[in-house]
Amino acid sequence: MHLAFWRDLLLLLEGSLDIHAISLWVEPLVPLLLDDEMLVLQAPNGVHRHIVEERYIGTVQRAARALSGRAIRIDLVTAEDIGIDVTDPGESPGPPRRRSRPAPPSLNPSYTFGTFIIGRCNRTAFHAASSVVAQPGKKHNPLFVTGGVGLGKTHLLQAIGASLGSRPGSRCIYIPSDQLMDELMEAFQNRTIGVARRKFTSATLLLVDDIHFLSGKNQIQEEFFHVFNILHGKGYQIVLSSDRPPKEIPRLQRRLVSRFQSGSVVELKPPGLNTRVSIIKAKAEQLGIELPHEAVTLLASRIRTNIRRIEGALNRIAAFYRLSGRAVSPRLVHELLRDRLFDGDDDAVTIRRIQTTVADHFGLKMAALLGQGRKGDVVLPRQMAMYLCRTMLNSPYADIGAAFSGRDHATAIYSFRTIEQLRRRNSEMRETLDEIVTVVSS
Ligand code: ADP
Ligand code: MG
Repeated sequence: MHLAFWRDLLLLLEGSLDIHAISLWVEPLVPLLLDDEMLVLQAPNGVHRHIVEERYIGTVQRAARALSGRAIRIDLVTAEDIGIDVTDPGESPGPPRRRSRPAPPSLNPSYTFGTFIIGRCNRTAFHAASSVVAQPGKKHNPLFVTGGVGLGKTHLLQAIGASLGSRPGSRCIYIPSDQLMDELMEAFQNRTIGVARRKFTSATLLLVDDIHFLSGKNQIQEEFFHVFNILHGKGYQIVLSSDRPPKEIPRLQRRLVSRFQSGSVVELKPPGLNTRVSIIKAKAEQLGIELPHEAVTLLASRIRTNIRRIEGALNRIAAFYRLSGRAVSPRLVHELLRDRLFDGDDDAVTIRRIQTTVADHFGLKMAALLGQGRKGDVVLPRQMAMYLCRTMLNSPYADIGAAFSGRDHATAIYSFRTIEQLRRRNSEMRETLDEIVTVVSS
């Protein structure tokens, strides 16, 4: 999809740029990502990127706007920035391959930029992190990443560590703050604080995860303040994560709050439906399980606020799949995950919610959607609503039928099958269902 857009963009540029400039500077860029707000292009190297930024980016941006009808931001990265391999430049631009060199110790090798799925919820944080890798110690120092549990803070910190830590001359320290506290406490007790301080101040990249645990620990905060100032003074990069922004961390010294927010504070938000679907598909593929579309929808619409829980659910499915060899049906997913499908009941999807969303979508009154009318403009929405009750809630057919003015289970089954067949054949049906699922789950 983005390759076609890129090809059209190159053609369009011929109207405004010299053909040699296009072939020398623009054509070698590889489109990595396109969504409705931005286009990420990979330049062959830093010099190339710089020249494109200086001379051509405005023209490319205008052309992208003309082509798509909306403002599109253009981000240029190099392979180095995002930690991917470019050993075979002749190859067509496929999914970026990951570097094979070993990650620095104590980092989880699967936490890289290559495995991080980007969506609206984390795009700003992702770009700040990749710009730290492009120019450590410059634009975002410190980079302070906030976000709730399981939203990717550790993943992002370690991705920075993996990319920068393997560069010659770099000394990367990744440490969760509770471990930092243990080390410093022990050093105080053993009177070896000088040694500990030297260790941390000799890093060129210091990543401290979950810094909010320093709350109320005055002596540790004091020591960390010195370490921070020394590294920052030398222009070395510091990256911190926390479950909340610096000024909301209780009992954190004011001077630390102000240091922590002196660079960039970026937030990881809970993923939207589309991002959850992408994450589920990517992880299922990594685990080697084939998930039917309905099972993906079921998982994505039920687990909303914690990516770690999505992984937990998939691991459970994968284990069952390996042991039983049974195909993964939505019913099976539902059974396996009965106790972990809800992220909180207040916003749980219900049959009622599906019905009202479908009625709104088609501009129908509820009475018409649920009533006895047989005209095409109510029958199809009604069947779609029943279909969604089945795929999103896995409700028994008898319950679904009953919720539609006391219809029987055979009607619900028939509706489900009709829509399922249409969905397979008709992309408009797929898109409409996806739109409704998005609204129901938002
Ligand atoms: P946090 O540190 O914020 O609690 P983690 O970084 O430990 O969260 O993320 C929880 C799990 O979810 C990890 O296994 C991580 O790889 C995965 N994860 C989080 N965000 C993403 C993402 N955008 N793409 C892919 N996996 C993700
Ligand atoms: Mg974490």
